Amino acid sequence: MNISENTVVTIEYSLSDGEGNLLEQSTADENFAYLHGHGQLLEPLEEALEGKEVGDRVQINIDPENGFGQRNEELVITVPRDRFPEDEDITEGMQVEAETEQGHQIFTILGVKDEGVTLDGNHPYAGFPLDFDVTVKDIRTATEEELEHGHAHQEGHHHH
Ligand code: ZN
Repeated sequence: MNISENTVVTIEYSLSDGEGNLLEQSTADENFAYLHGHGQLLEPLEEALEGKEVGDRVQINIDPENGFGQRNEELVITVPRDRFPEDEDITEGMQVEAETEQGHQIFTILGVKDEGVTLDGNHPYAGFPLDFDVTVKDIRTATEEELEHGHAHQEGHHHH
């Protein structure tokens, strides 16, 4: 079976920045499954996987324009500490979710000072090239339910 639209593909992967620093990877007991052809992966990666078979390996470098974009320094903002619940432990590197004019957004906390909390609204992977190393582990036809939902369901648990 080859990877084509509406197949569920299980992959083993690692993702590094352009300088070889590992950002994330699948683990032996939890490979990543996705529904092919529904924009769940970055477009160049999905295109590179098209037609591949179990055992095939894809190594691809994706520049920021085709990845998570360039950094926008206007998305780095400082807000007063009292905008967060007092009992919430706010620490550097932590990610928080907020509703903004742009909708639901994830911010990374860059720093906590007396004058306020500095937040970065850029995607954590924005602004640098991404190196994907992907091995195809399994390919199957998607179920009706998966097609309805537009994503893959992992065996054993339904996770969104
Ligand atoms: Zn679902």
